[in-house]
Amino acid sequence: MEKISVVVSCYNEEKALPLFYEEMERVRKQDFENIVDFEYIFVNDGSKDKTLEIIKQLREKDSKVRYVSFSRNFGKEAAMLAGLEASRGDYVTLMDADLQDPPALLKEMYNAIINEGYDSVGTRRVTRKGEPPIRSFFARMFYKIINKMSSIEMVDGARDYRLMKRKVVDAIISLKEYNRYSKGLFSFVGFDTKWIEYENVERVAGETKWSFWKLFKYALEGITAFSTTPLILSSILGLIFCLVAFFSIIFIIARTLINGDPTPGWPSLVCIIVFVSGIQLFSMGIIGQYLSKTYLEVKKRPIYIIKEIEE
Ligand code: UDP
Ligand code: MG
Repeated sequence: MEKISVVVSCYNEEKALPLFYEEMERVRKQDFENIVDFEYIFVNDGSKDKTLEIIKQLREKDSKVRYVSFSRNFGKEAAMLAGLEASRGDYVTLMDADLQDPPALLKEMYNAIINEGYDSVGTRRVTRKGEPPIRSFFARMFYKIINKMSSIEMVDGARDYRLMKRKVVDAIISLKEYNRYSKGLFSFVGFDTKWIEYENVERVAGETKWSFWKLFKYALEGITAFSTTPLILSSILGLIFCLVAFFSIIFIIARTLINGDPTPGWPSLVCIIVFVSGIQLFSMGIIGQYLSKTYLEVKKRPIYIIKEIEE
C-alpha cells in the first residue's frame, strides 16, 4: 500500500496536540482505512512546555508516530524542512498542530492527486474571519506588493497546508537556502497545483506564536528572498534625486545671473538635506537587507539541529 506522511510542526502545542491527533485519526479511519497507510512525523521545534512528552506518549501507543526534536526553537520553516526530510511516504502533507488546517480536507486533496492527475494540492483560506482586522489589512497589502515585485506568484491566503507527491517534496528539499520562505519555494518548484478553498478556522487551543513584529520580519523575508526589485527601486530613487539636483543647480545659477544672490533660503536647504539623507539611509537599509541575507547564506550554517530523533 502507498503511504501518506503527515508532517506536523509543533512549538508549545501541549494543549492542541492531543486534539489534533484525535481528529486526524478520526479522519484517517473514516476516509483512508485500507486505502493508504499513514505515518505521522511530529517536529518538536524546541518547545518549552510538555509537547515532546505528549509526542512520546503518542509514540508509545501508536507505531505510526515518529518524531524529530530540535535542540532549540528554529522556527516553523526549519521544522517543516526537517519533517519533509524525515518523511518516507509517497505523498506528504504539511499541517499545523492547531487544527487550523482541517484534516477533513485531506480526502478531497488526495482524490485530486489520484483521480485528477495533479502533483500537489494547496489550500487557501478565502476568509480571514477571527483574525485582527489590522493583521488582515497588512497581509492583503503584503500580497499585493510582493506579487508586483516578484516573478514568482504568491497566492493570497495560501496556507502551508498541502498534499504533495514525492517528486515535489524532493524538489523542495533540494532547495538548500538558509532564508526559507516556503510559500515562495512551493511556487518556485512549479508542478501542477490545484487550489482548494476553505473558510478560516480558529485554532482549537493554545495561542498563536506569530506576533505582529514576527510577521513583519517574515514578510520582509519573503520580499528579499524572491525579489530584487527594492534594489532597483533605490537606484531609481537615487537617479531621480540626481536629476532634481541637476536642474536645481541650473535654476539657481540662472537666477543668480539674472537677479544677483538674494541669500535667504537656509531653512529650505536644511529640509532638502534631511530629506535626501533620509532617502540615502533608506536605500542603504535595503542594500543592507540583501547583504545580511547573503551573509547568512554564505556561512552555510545548518538550518536546524536535531537533539533527538525517533525512527
Ligand atoms: N510553529 C513552529 N515553530 C515556531 C512557531 C510556530 O513549529 O517557531 C508551528 C506551530 O506549533 C503551529 C504552526 O507552526 O503548528 C502555526 O503556528 P500558529 O498557529 O501559531 O500560527 P498562525 O496559525 O497563528 O499563523
Ligand atoms: Mg495557527
